[in-house]
Amino acid sequence: MASITLDNLVKAYGDTEVLHHVAGRIEDGEFIVIVGPSGCGKSTLLRMVAGLETVTAGQISIGDRVVNQLEPADRDIAMVFQNYALYPHMSVRENMAYGLKIRKISKDEIARRVEEAADILELRPYLDRKPRQLSGGQRQRVAMGRAIVRNPQVFLFDEPLSNLDAKLRVQMRLEIRKLQQRLGVTSIYVTHDQVEAMTLGDRLMVLNGGYVEQFGTPIELYDRPATTFVAGFIGSPAMNFLPATAAEGSVTLANGARISGAGTAQGAVTLGLRPEHLLPDDDGPVRVRVELVEQLGANSLLHGQLDGTETEMVVSMPGHMSAAAGSVMGFTPTADSLHLFDPETGKRIKA
Ligand code: ADP
Repeated sequence: MASITLDNLVKAYGDTEVLHHVAGRIEDGEFIVIVGPSGCGKSTLLRMVAGLETVTAGQISIGDRVVNQLEPADRDIAMVFQNYALYPHMSVRENMAYGLKIRKISKDEIARRVEEAADILELRPYLDRKPRQLSGGQRQRVAMGRAIVRNPQVFLFDEPLSNLDAKLRVQMRLEIRKLQQRLGVTSIYVTHDQVEAMTLGDRLMVLNGGYVEQFGTPIELYDRPATTFVAGFIGSPAMNFLPATAAEGSVTLANGARISGAGTAQGAVTLGLRPEHLLPDDDGPVRVRVELVEQLGANSLLHGQLDGTETEMVVSMPGHMSAAAGSVMGFTPTADSLHLFDPETGKRIKA
């Protein structure tokens, strides 16, 4: 096991810089998720750690070794990919053993490691099957098994669950988390799915256009997003953003409504309100003109606009509720739930 240090990493393809001075330290045994929309540079960053992409500038260390110039095979990492990359003509046992065989590990040691991994992953009954005789989840487990038998210092996961259906993804997500906790291997996991990121990661590195927007625990990102990008990306449904003006501890919305709890902020702000932090209140300051209500069973999502404006809003309420289209409902934000951002830079205003 080992820590990983990313020191001012830059990646450019020709004149185009796609990762800009990425920095962060991943502690020994930590599970880090790199998350962000398609094209933000997640896979490139992971592939640089793996040694599959060169480093344009900066340094990557695994433990106390700088690995910039090391071949992938010499970095003591194991990677789990999206498309499993299993050999179709080999059995599960042979697939798991293959990487060890080419490293000239003894037969007995290979058999021991494969069986140990098969026990951990509950794959023992399938060891003699071919990949085509397995379900998607079982194939994913074999891909994990191949990484585990290597006994690496670091696991790297590149969107490993994106080929699975929604239910299986949730199940495999839990399995990966439990497995990582049990093995305690430092791990980096790439996904564009914020729910997957929130449930898996000890900490999340949110990337946007090749920049690190924020690197923190799921709860830090949810409670104190550093930017409107993080605020809108983490949490579902996404945070509402309303243009507002702050003065004397309150914010005034575009329709003239005043909400207290703005701290010392002054002037034009973007007010962020999470859909689940608005409580129905006939006299509440946040008045929403209802467009439609989605009943999801456990909760209901009210879609509409801030009354008197065209600003779209979503409110999430527990249980069943209904409201006629065109009616106006009042809401009060829960205590300490106002997020204020600079409308120019998108950065959180420290209130
Ligand atoms: P993500 O994994 O977040 O979807 P990538 O890391 O694949 O994003 O890509 C980040 C950026 O780098 C994208 O703009 C992509 O077009 C660009 N890119 C990736 N690989 C290459 C390449 N081999 N040559 C030029 N540009 C590339």
